[in-house]
Amino acid sequence: MTQASYDVLVIGEGISGLTAASELAKAGLKTATLEAQLFGGLVINVNELEPGPDGRQVSGAEYAAELMQANAELGVTSVQEAVTAIVIRDGLLHATTAGAVYAARQIVAASGARLRKLGVPGEDEFEGRGVSQCADCDGPMYQNEQVVVAGGGDSALQEALVLANYCSAVRIVHRGGKFRAQPHYVEAVAANPKIATTWNATIEAISGGKMVERVRIRHADGRSEEIPCAGVFAYIGLVPNADYLPREVARDATGCAITDGHLETALPGLWAIGAMRSGHGGTLPDAMDEARRVAAAIRARLT
Ligand code: NAP
Repeated sequence: MTQASYDVLVIGEGISGLTAASELAKAGLKTATLEAQLFGGLVINVNELEPGPDGRQVSGAEYAAELMQANAELGVTSVQEAVTAIVIRDGLLHATTAGAVYAARQIVAASGARLRKLGVPGEDEFEGRGVSQCADCDGPMYQNEQVVVAGGGDSALQEALVLANYCSAVRIVHRGGKFRAQPHYVEAVAANPKIATTWNATIEAISGGKMVERVRIRHADGRSEEIPCAGVFAYIGLVPNADYLPREVARDATGCAITDGHLETALPGLWAIGAMRSGHGGTLPDAMDEARRVAAAIRARLT
């Protein structure tokens, strides 16, 4: 049974979803956001957003909380439920959760992505005992220890720099021979005496006793090597939170939703923005720009 009807439902309370909902509500559209977990999305554990919104220095959690508060004042309804399916019925889109169905004229999918795991022996076993994906939260536990970071993108280098504030040594293990991160991260990592990089190698296993004590890596030439370490942080890309998307929505090889130039998916009225959208630029300004563009397109259609 339909619980409530809205002009627009926004799935996800990350920065892109919250920004889109804000713009839609300002346009006078009855808007709700649905969130499966805590609001904030991928930036929630970032101590200082780079670049900061409006040039300000704020943490991801602070900024998300500001947007939540502003949305509440604009009359946006926040629903703490996970969407499991979207169907089209009687000319409206319907989002289903475990306990309810919400109808809307348009839906914006902004459910973001989660960090990919390594998928190697020891990773699950040592979760919370040396295996982490939050440098800002767990970095202080590794004072004067060596840690290993996997990956070669913006996340790996940004988090390696955070960890270098606490640890005696940070070893980046990258499967390639070149970082794909933005130049300012590459330069900062190269200039940091605590950070060293092992190129063309992947982590094969994580082991230890009560806590992580080492990783085994495999070099491209077949050699294996053990690196002693107290912590392992994998930043090897993202997996979109997109399981609920209907079959009509085309996906790319990574599972991200494919949209047209206006950010609409192949299912009319269902739009996709942010880290779950194929071709998303990945930065905070990209997320906010997509949110504003989708809100403008929906406003033009509905008002
Ligand atoms: P990413 O850009 O997809 O990079 C993933 C890295 O992990 C790549 O270096 C990749 O290697 C490596 N990798 C992928 N699969 C692997 C595997 N199975 N084993 C070992 N290594 C593997 O992911 P990200 O760094 O998390 O960034 C995601 C998005 O967020 C990007 O768009 C990024 O720009 C954005 N971001 C922006 C900021 C910022 O603006 N401040 C900060 C963080 C993230 P290859 O290079 O060899 O493919």
